[in-house]
Amino acid sequence: GYLPTFSFSFSFSFDVTVAYNKDPSPIKLNLGVGAYRTEEGKPLVLNVVRKAEQQLVSDRSRIKEYLPIVGLGEFNKLSAKLILGADSPAIRENRVTTVECLSGTGSLRVGGEFLARHYHQKTIYIPQPTWGNHPKIFTLAGLFTRRPWCCPQGSIVLLHACAHNPTGVDPTLEQWEQIRKLMRSKGLMPFFDSAYQGFASGSLDTDAKPIRMFVADGGECLVAQSYAKNMGLYGERVGALSIVCKAADVAGRVESQLKLVIRPMYSNPPIHGASIVAVILRDRNLFNEWTLELKGMADRIISMRKQLFEALRARGTPGDWTHIIKQIGMFTFTGLNPAQVSYMTKEYHIYMTSDGRISMAGLSSKTVPHLADAIHAVVTK
Ligand code: PMP
Repeated sequence: GYLPTFSFSFSFSFDVTVAYNKDPSPIKLNLGVGAYRTEEGKPLVLNVVRKAEQQLVSDRSRIKEYLPIVGLGEFNKLSAKLILGADSPAIRENRVTTVECLSGTGSLRVGGEFLARHYHQKTIYIPQPTWGNHPKIFTLAGLFTRRPWCCPQGSIVLLHACAHNPTGVDPTLEQWEQIRKLMRSKGLMPFFDSAYQGFASGSLDTDAKPIRMFVADGGECLVAQSYAKNMGLYGERVGALSIVCKAADVAGRVESQLKLVIRPMYSNPPIHGASIVAVILRDRNLFNEWTLELKGMADRIISMRKQLFEALRARGTPGDWTHIIKQIGMFTFTGLNPAQVSYMTKEYHIYMTSDGRISMAGLSSKTVPHLADAIHAVVTK
């Protein structure tokens, strides 16, 4: 046969989980997962999501017809408002086109392919390091990916809107302002990946600030939004791509080109996840309840950071571990090297990607001591 029979051994969170599942040890710990877990180590379905689903199920007028190519219109409008701000001049002036896509990944892919077809430059500059899927998504979308950042006039630049994955290190607002000025002066096209809005600071508006700074100057940008983390809708695959243009007529033409990208790729996006999001975003009470649940998740992660930091300090573990409490979002970039990671997996049954990235959401007060013991052992070995 001609089908490839080989496989690659990459160190992505999905592979880490496969190895973790095979390990029979009762003390095993999976810190590779890119999904939120409760203090009990369980996946979480938000209360507001359950409520929204009940509303949807009990509405007998709901049908399962295809959505338009661009997805659910109300979802698109509400998503643009959520990320750009309800009072965004770009929305008011009809300069934004938003299409529902298959979560963050699908939004990046559609945006990438649109740029590959229509933008005057075919190279996207991506951070080093970055989420492991970025280079693959953009390469298959038809762009060249380059790093580090020494880009010619007009290049496309990928920016993590908040909670940079994997480092957990974000620019300050002052630094974002410098980045904005520099990028605008070189005519660079910002493509924001917003996979963690609300998850970093606990506030949806705070986490969207960098994007809003770029939109406020009247220039163009692309934004890929995901509801996987902040609404816990991982497997529903719900996200949006917004393209902010300089004029309303351009936004209209961009939308028609986006349809030409989407139609042969998957025809139209799924209905259920976007409907859940629309129910929550349109209802003030559900929206407020969502922000509280979101803050609850963000706060638990921050608390895990403090507990791990304290546990290492209590053990007198050599090294400066303040980055654990300084970093932002779901992940901590520990600084552990691949050899140390594999030692911790072998001796302590702790699983993580080989770059030393651990998911704080996979930790609990019960498992922090075990992780601290393992880190202490490996750095004093
Ligand atoms: N961008 C970044 C930086 C991510 O970490 C993730 C999820 N791990 C995504 C995009 C996309 O996730 P999804 O397709 O599930 O929305």
